[in-house]
Amino acid sequence: MSFENAFKREANFINGGWSAADSGATVEVTNPATGETIGTIPHAGRAETARAIESAHLAFQTWKKKTAEERSTLMMKLADEIMANIDELAVLLTTEMGKPLAEAKGEITGGAKYIRFFAEEAKRVYGDMIPSPWADRRIMVTKEPVGVVGAITPWNFPNSMIARKLGAALAAGCTMVIKPSEFTPFSALAYGVLAEKVGIPKGVINVLTGEAKDIGEEMCENPRVAKITFTGSTRVGKILAGNAGKHMKKISMELGGNAPFIVFDDADLDKAVEGAIASKFRNSGQTCVCANRLYVQSGVYDAFAAKLAKAVEAQLKPGNGLEAGSTQGPLINAAAVTKVKDHLEDALAKGGKIITGGTALNGPGTFFEPTVVTGAHQDMRVAREETFGPLAVLFRFETEEEVIDRANDTEYGLACYFYTKDLGRSFRVMEALEYGLVGVNEGVITTEVAPFGGVKESGMGNEGSKYGLDDYLTIKYACFGGL
Ligand code: ADP
Repeated sequence: MSFENAFKREANFINGGWSAADSGATVEVTNPATGETIGTIPHAGRAETARAIESAHLAFQTWKKKTAEERSTLMMKLADEIMANIDELAVLLTTEMGKPLAEAKGEITGGAKYIRFFAEEAKRVYGDMIPSPWADRRIMVTKEPVGVVGAITPWNFPNSMIARKLGAALAAGCTMVIKPSEFTPFSALAYGVLAEKVGIPKGVINVLTGEAKDIGEEMCENPRVAKITFTGSTRVGKILAGNAGKHMKKISMELGGNAPFIVFDDADLDKAVEGAIASKFRNSGQTCVCANRLYVQSGVYDAFAAKLAKAVEAQLKPGNGLEAGSTQGPLINAAAVTKVKDHLEDALAKGGKIITGGTALNGPGTFFEPTVVTGAHQDMRVAREETFGPLAVLFRFETEEEVIDRANDTEYGLACYFYTKDLGRSFRVMEALEYGLVGVNEGVITTEVAPFGGVKESGMGNEGSKYGLDDYLTIKYACFGGL
C-alpha cells in the first residue's frame, strides 16, 4: 500500500535539507495494525550523524545569541503549526504506531503544549547576584545553554517524547540532533517539515534515522555534542550513559518502570477502577508509567477484580486506530505480543487465573486482548519485569507496611499510584514510595507543567516544568573584582 500524508518524508533532515543515507540503504516502516509497509527511511550511520552534529554546532553559534523573545516567538509558531495540522499529523502517527486517532490527537496536543510551555519559560532563565564576602568584588551567576544535544527517542509517543526534549532545548538556546525509533520515524521527520514551514534556522533541528548503535556512539563520542537525552529501555540507557560518561557529557535518562498500583481497603473502588483502566490500558499498556503490578488489599480484592474485569469488557475495544470506536490499538510489533504471551503463560503456570481476555488476536495486526489475571505473586515474571502490554495482574496484600515493601522491591523507580481516602495514609505512603512520580487517587498525572523523571534504574533528570529546563543549562559564576 502506498500511504500518502502531507508530512511524510522518506529522507533525513540535516542542515535544513533532505537527504538519503550515504550508502543509499533504506529500511521499511510497517503499520502495526495491518502489517503493511507504509514507506521507507534512510539507514544512515556515523558519517551522516557527524554531519548533522556539525550543522547543529554551526547553528548553535547564532541560535544561542538570539534573544529569548526571538526563540520563543519561533517556538510559538511551531506549536501553532502543529495544532493547525493536527488531523494530518495524527493520521501519520496512528498509521506508524497504532494508537487510536483520538489518543494520537491527545498526544500531539500534549506535544504542542510542551513547546508552548518552554517557549514561555525561555524568558525566565534567571541568573543570580550573590552577596559577596569581599567588599571589592561582586558575584554573579548566569545560565547558558549546554550546546548541541543528541536526542534518542522511543516509539510509544513518537511526537510528544520529542516535543518535551526539543521544547526545553530550543528554549535554553541549544540545538538538536534527533534519532527517533526506527518503528515510528515519520512523526519525528515531520518536525523537519514543521521547522521548515515556520522558519526555524537550518541546523537548529536535525532528524536522522539509521543504525541505532552507530548513531548513539557518534553522539556520545563526538566532541561537539554536549549532552545526550534519551527515553527508552534501561538496557540501552545504561549503554548510552556509560559512553556519554567516558566523554563527560551531560545526560538525561528516562528509562523503564515497573509501576505499582495500590488499592487500599478504604479506596473509592469505582475511582480506582477508572484509574486502573487509564493507567494500565492506555496506549495498549505501552507507556513507561503504565501500572505493571496491581496490589489490592484483601478486603476489596474480589470486588475490585470483578469491577475491573467488567469495565475492561465494557469499555475497551481492540481495533485499527484509524477506525471509529477502537480504544486499543495494536502492540508495536510481534516481539511485543510475544512478551505479553510469555508473561501471561508464566503467571498461569505459577497459579494465576484469567478473569477476562487472554489471547492474541489473529493477524495481520499485532493485537492482544486486554487481559486481567488474579492470584499474582512475587515470583512471577510480571512482578519483576515491565510487560509493556495490556496485561493487568492483581496481587493480594494485607497491610500498609507489607505493600510498601513489595512496591519498593524493584530496581525501577518511575511512576507509582495508590488509592485511599485516608489523609494520613496518603502522606505516609506517598513519602515511603521510592518513585519519581506519585499518583494519589489519580491514574494519569503527566502534564507539561510538572516534572517527569525517575529514580533508581528508571533514570535521572526531569522533563517538563521549570525543572526540565535546568537539564539544558549550565551555570557560570563570574567574579568582578577591583571595584
Ligand atoms: P524500546 O524497548 O522501548 O524500543 P529501546 O531502548 O530499545 O526501547 O529503544 C529506544 C530508542 O533507543 C530507539 O530510538 C532505538 O532505536 C534506540 N536504540 C536501541 N539500541 C540502541 C543503541 N545501542 N544505541 C543507541 N540507541 C539505541
